[in-house]
Amino acid sequence: MERPVRVAVVGSGPSGMYAADALTSQDDVSVSVDIIDRLPTPFGLVRYGVAPDHLSIRSVRDTLDKVLDKPGVRFIGNVEIGRDLSLEQLRACYDAIILTYGASRDRALGIPGEHLPGSIAATDLVNWYTGHPDVAPDAFAGFLAGARSVAVIGVGNVAVDVTRVLSKAPDEIEHTDMPEHVFAALRSSGIGDVHVIGRRGPAQATWTTKELRELGELEETQVVVEEGADVSDPASVAAIGSDKAVARNVAVIQEWSLRERDARRRSIHLHFRCRPVEILGEDRVEGLVVERTELDEEGQAHGTGETHVIPVDGVIRSVGYRGTTIPGVPFDTRRNVIPNVDGRVVDGEQIVPGLYVAGWIKRGPTGIIGTNKKDAVQTVGCLLEDAADPAFRTATAPEEPSVDAVLVGVEVVDVAGWRRIDAAERARGESAGRERTTIHDRADLLGSARG
Ligand SMILES: Cc1cc2nc3c(=O)[nH]c(=O)nc-3n(C[C@H](O)[C@H](O)[C@H](O)COP(=O)(O)OP(=O)(O)OC[C@H]3O[C@@H](n4cnc5c(N)ncnc54)[C@H](O)[C@@H]3O)c2cc1C
Repeated sequence: MERPVRVAVVGSGPSGMYAADALTSQDDVSVSVDIIDRLPTPFGLVRYGVAPDHLSIRSVRDTLDKVLDKPGVRFIGNVEIGRDLSLEQLRACYDAIILTYGASRDRALGIPGEHLPGSIAATDLVNWYTGHPDVAPDAFAGFLAGARSVAVIGVGNVAVDVTRVLSKAPDEIEHTDMPEHVFAALRSSGIGDVHVIGRRGPAQATWTTKELRELGELEETQVVVEEGADVSDPASVAAIGSDKAVARNVAVIQEWSLRERDARRRSIHLHFRCRPVEILGEDRVEGLVVERTELDEEGQAHGTGETHVIPVDGVIRSVGYRGTTIPGVPFDTRRNVIPNVDGRVVDGEQIVPGLYVAGWIKRGPTGIIGTNKKDAVQTVGCLLEDAADPAFRTATAPEEPSVDAVLVGVEVVDVAGWRRIDAAERARGESAGRERTTIHDRADLLGSARG
């Protein structure tokens, strides 16, 4: 009997897990799947992105987790491709590789002052409050304790998440799985004002209505619509008329703009049609200069030359995520994705045999978790089609589990190890009256995996 097609999936976020699921949910081609992740824990941004207070979305983990129990699937955690194992080594061990390693870096604003102390990337803050092992526990304690007024630059759902987490009362987040040091830092946060800054108007913001509405439902925090919320320009009128989601977002902002200011101790200030042009400060952030913009017929923002300063002592840059390359993999440096046709990696015009891509590193950082399922299914469809060719089984290493021999000396976390981490997190949570407490420290994670 022919041996199974050996597939390595690089990345255990939603796209990697959906790809593994699709590979093992068919009977036409016999496959074995190794899901490799640089972290000791699976699920990518579902663990280290989705806001801890969005419990129902985070529970997608339970669905993804079931894939790890499927016959023919292994989890190989704590192994970074490009560091512990090169692409070349990987290609020798597997017939096919599906790259699903996401897009985890922040995009730059490109304005003076961007790198001043007190100007931070939302990616780093999100990593910190979700307990990512790459971020030191005290990374933002000083920022939170010292800042009184911060700007969040960006009007997408990540900006909303960050704004909400910084604006919630301690008892509104105590039930979540954030690590203890994050609770402690948020409890002693001095931030009273969060200024959310958008280059365009309310009709062009990319946040979703459900997430936006939550900002208006916080215990200790009011929302104040400060400037630029007018939607009478032709582009906004057209967007509101043609897109119900846009109309709903605009209605929420309009309702907020009618609210009286109250005496709550914290405020979220919304600034539209404001383009950040400079972060002020000598040796730390002292203000944000914004330029008023106008929208053209396409809804694009153009500077008017009129500037003003928003008084902030911290800036959180939330203008998107971007992918990076792994040595040996073709890369589109303009779009920051791996070039592909329907998930088959291409180098120029040529398809690279045996190399596939899915998820954010395939299409860029867009869509919801479920978008990655359709995306991964498309890629797996191409792989299975190609696997009909007998020459597809190219792996040169002798018998499975061949990659294990290459990984001698690397502390691999397998599925049993991940289950022990899971149990340890649940136990720590239980002792504090919560469902789970995230273990953030890599050594602690590895220790828990060992049992
Ligand atoms: C802050 C934030 C909040 C979000 N909230 C929501 C939400 O509420 N609802 C929703 O539907 N969507 C949300 N999303 C979007 C959702 O998380 C993404 O659509 C999804 O996670 C993308 O999946 P992915 O598998 O492509 O990438 P990822 O989830 O990023 O997974 C990539 C995996 O690859 C691993 N990896 C990276 N490099 C390597 C390497 N060299 N070797 C081995 N492994 C590697 C990483 O550790 C990671 O586990 C959010 C995104 C962010 C950033």
